[in-house]
Amino acid sequence: MAVDSCLFCRIVAGEVPAERVATGDGVLAFRDIEPRAPVHVLVVPERHVASVHELDDGASGLLADCFALCRQVAEQEGIADGYRVTTNVGERGGQSVAHLHFHVLGGRQLGHIDS
Ligand code: IMP
Repeated sequence: MAVDSCLFCRIVAGEVPAERVATGDGVLAFRDIEPRAPVHVLVVPERHVASVHELDDGASGLLADCFALCRQVAEQEGIADGYRVTTNVGERGGQSVAHLHFHVLGGRQLGHIDS
């Protein structure tokens, strides 16, 4: 996908509005437009990467920055006692936006992942 047509690249660039909740080192957190829990925030790297499957071996810094922002979001949103971080890979894995993102979900009792 061309970066200029990627929805999350456009959110990072400020071309598409989003409710931003935090920023980190090359990463952005904003609220999911269709929340599936009382807290549902997406954490994305600013540079375009389609999914974790496309990351190269040098991506440990980028992943650390993403998870650091997930933790910060959890603290900010008051859900640090229990939350979920997930990422989907490819259409068959349930991914609908082809720009790496981590869902940070919480604010209610979460069950086991079974679907
Ligand atoms: P995926 O299905 O794992 O790729 O997650 C994509 C997420 O992006 C879904 O939870 C959508 O609700 C969310 N989403 C789609 N468009 C927007 C938007 O414009 N702003 C914020 N979240 C969005």
